[in-house]
Amino acid sequence: MTALITLTGVNKYYADYHALRDINLTINEGEFFSLLGPSGCGKTTLLRTIAGFEMPSDGVVMIGGKDMAGVPANLRPTNMVFQSYAIFPHLTVAENVAFGLRKSKEIDKQTKAKMVAEALAMVGLDGYGKRAAHALSGGQRQRVALARALILKPKVLLLDEPLSALDKKMREQMQVELIRLQRQVGITFILVTHDQEEALVMSDRIAVMFEGEIGQLADPETLYRRPNSRRVAQFIGKMNMLDATVEVVDEVIDLTVRGLGSMQIEREQAPEGGQVGSAVVGIRPETLGILFEGETTERKLVDGVVDEVVYYGDMTYYDVRIEGVEQPLNIAMKNLIGRPVLEVGAKTQVIWDERSLVLLP
Ligand code: ATP
Repeated sequence: MTALITLTGVNKYYADYHALRDINLTINEGEFFSLLGPSGCGKTTLLRTIAGFEMPSDGVVMIGGKDMAGVPANLRPTNMVFQSYAIFPHLTVAENVAFGLRKSKEIDKQTKAKMVAEALAMVGLDGYGKRAAHALSGGQRQRVALARALILKPKVLLLDEPLSALDKKMREQMQVELIRLQRQVGITFILVTHDQEEALVMSDRIAVMFEGEIGQLADPETLYRRPNSRRVAQFIGKMNMLDATVEVVDEVIDLTVRGLGSMQIEREQAPEGGQVGSAVVGIRPETLGILFEGETTERKLVDGVVDEVVYYGDMTYYDVRIEGVEQPLNIAMKNLIGRPVLEVGAKTQVIWDERSLVLLP
């Protein structure tokens, strides 16, 4: 893997407001990289700093081995696709895409037409060139914006919430298309999103940001299975949290978890290492289970009472109270054939497995 973008000690202040705090980050060539975090955490500021629309207050941004200090946005090997489609409604699709070439005066008309056609084919808009841009659907407009950004074959495509204006179905379709497109063109994509599912689906790696800082940077599976803090665990998907006391940290970790009792877990289940004393363990809802009548399990069981039932068609989410724990456990169950949907108040047994726990500071 070759590093394409390196940020070292980047800080950004807006007057007194510290919007980026000591960001150190490397993004590789050909990588699909996402900046994920709640509103106001600084992800757009970070993207704009890479693009050259914002200058860091201190620190270094390198792209392709060159220091970007003083290099304006239009001279950087990056191109940005914005949240709002930002296409010109009074122009045709082809004219909109050709707008991406406006600074390349030396390209002749014929070559331009060919480049536009290629860019449109890339985003699945073959033959749409003559259409009026205002007559397109939201998804099609976003494709035009993409084609316009891709036509100059930038090294890096910066995407600021590009799908947020689309409805759920269209968004999911565009997610798949963006992944395909990124693989096809092989350039680095940097996506800003506050949608954790979108980041998990699309990215090679994700930086999760809170209050101007990177909380964790990892591939989607590591972020989901081994979050390094409570805030990452709770921002990405649902996570049950149980109080625990860590007794021994050695080759394995001995601990007692409230409601579940004493157990041993592996060191790798503690992304931050683990320390003797009080801690919290996280358990994902789908790694817990309910033992239905007629089913058996080799895993461990604890008695519980159903507190809440939410039926989703393919899944049912249960809240189940277990003894000694204030918050009910959230449990996600597939609605398999023959499985009833339990009612509130039903006595049941919760299946759990210490291998699915993550120990959090
Ligand atoms: P969102 O998802 O809501 O767009 P974000 O994570 O992209 O949020 P930023 O837009 O990077 O967040 O903003 C980070 C913080 O910096 C916010 O508190 C914002 O109010 C502040 N901020 C952003 N731009 C400016 C500016 N030009 N002047 C002053 N403050 C700013």
